[in-house]
Amino acid sequence: MTVDGMARVRISPGDHVLVVGLGKSGLSAVRFLLQIGAKVSVSEGGRLDRLGRETRRWLDGERVFVEEGGHSSELFCSVDHILLSPGVPLSLPAVVAAKAKGVPVFGEMALAAQFMKTPMVAVTGTNGKSTVVTLLGDLFRAANKKVFVGGNIGTPLTDYLQGNQEAEVAVLEVSSFQLDTAVAFRPTVGVLLNITPDHLDRYASYDEYAASKFSLFRSQGRGDAAVLNADDPKILKRAEQSSHERLFLFGHDLAGHNGARVEKGVVTVRGFGAPESYDLAGTCLAESPNSENSAAAIIAARIMGCTPSCIKKGLASFAPLAHRLTLVADVEGVRYLDDSKATNIGAAKSALEGIHGPVVLIAGGRDKGGDYGLMADVVRDKVKHLLLIGEASEKMAAAFAGLTQVEKLITLEEAVARAHQLAQAGDTVLLSPACASFDMFTGYAHRGEVFQEAVRRLSPQAVTPA
Ligand code: ADP
Repeated sequence: MTVDGMARVRISPGDHVLVVGLGKSGLSAVRFLLQIGAKVSVSEGGRLDRLGRETRRWLDGERVFVEEGGHSSELFCSVDHILLSPGVPLSLPAVVAAKAKGVPVFGEMALAAQFMKTPMVAVTGTNGKSTVVTLLGDLFRAANKKVFVGGNIGTPLTDYLQGNQEAEVAVLEVSSFQLDTAVAFRPTVGVLLNITPDHLDRYASYDEYAASKFSLFRSQGRGDAAVLNADDPKILKRAEQSSHERLFLFGHDLAGHNGARVEKGVVTVRGFGAPESYDLAGTCLAESPNSENSAAAIIAARIMGCTPSCIKKGLASFAPLAHRLTLVADVEGVRYLDDSKATNIGAAKSALEGIHGPVVLIAGGRDKGGDYGLMADVVRDKVKHLLLIGEASEKMAAAFAGLTQVEKLITLEEAVARAHQLAQAGDTVLLSPACASFDMFTGYAHRGEVFQEAVRRLSPQAVTPA
């Protein structure tokens, strides 16, 4: 469900805006809206005891009406605008009722059309967003450009809108949920990394999920650029039908288009004068999928005016993000990689594709409704033992039966100990769960920490990277 077809958002001083959800981005939105002179109310489904006394006092002082523990249609239907926090579904009954009454409903990205003065590079996709926006931040800084990095990662957009907007470029991570409420959001550069099934609990179908991702380009116009993944046949087809004047592809085969081609850890760029070459060897981006992520980031940085030499500097100094294919230790010649952030099938698949040599894979967790068959080939080719934990164990064991040796275990610690018994020098033990973590952990980071701790306990002689 999206807010497709709505006219652009326009908030005037004195308008009554309801902020739904009072997490980090909801609170930031309240501050921003008060700053522009709006009358603000809040509706939060949970209890707000977690808010500090100071925040409560501040909300009271600013005369912000707070509804907590549920959402009432009366309140939703009585306001001029409704601003949804990223986690809040459009299917919420009070939202549906307000929309039926004609109340505009949108998310923070929609505010950019009215309030953002800084050119934006927006990055979406099922996987790789955080890596690419963080890398882009590094590339712009290496080019001495003032950059704001935020959106779905770290700092909410409304935090930036409250300041002087001094950055030369804003790099925004945009989730599909945020795109669904982005209305006339128009990035100067839109980057679509990949689309593999995810969040199928929230979208009616894969096609609906894919349409959400493509809406990134919906409001773009003259001079704006699209950067798209050439290796996904569906994306390539849409790219070839697109009317974008500035279209760039990245991947292994660009089908004759301009863009960044990846081959054996070297990215070759066409479309900016003479061809350019970026060798990723010696950086932590040399392996797939980070070589593809680098290609996408290089193109976006070139479009925004970074020079090749600055980009090379930025690539060389990039440090990998935690729990994304992170090398934890080398124990007796076996590499242990923490890829706990791989919470869907596409991420785990690409992690396996990038690894050379046999793999003991630890996977499982909370199932997200995807088709494990997408990983079948790579599991058959690379995984010598599959160790499963969590709620999805049964379903995954059935999906991978006959493709590799499958064992079910109760805890992640047990899985690590078992992997240690099974792996031989030259193998990789990979935690890449293809599932959410919430059945056993507080989040992917918690799951990754437990894995790392268990690996470190294996052997005091473990060689841990600096
Ligand atoms: P996101 O912010 O989209 O969740 P991250 O950069 O945090 O993406 O990476 C999440 C996981 O996705 C990583 O653990 C990695 O295994 C996988 N991944 C990273 N880049 C890609 C890519 N380009 N294609 C597929 N999977 C990827």
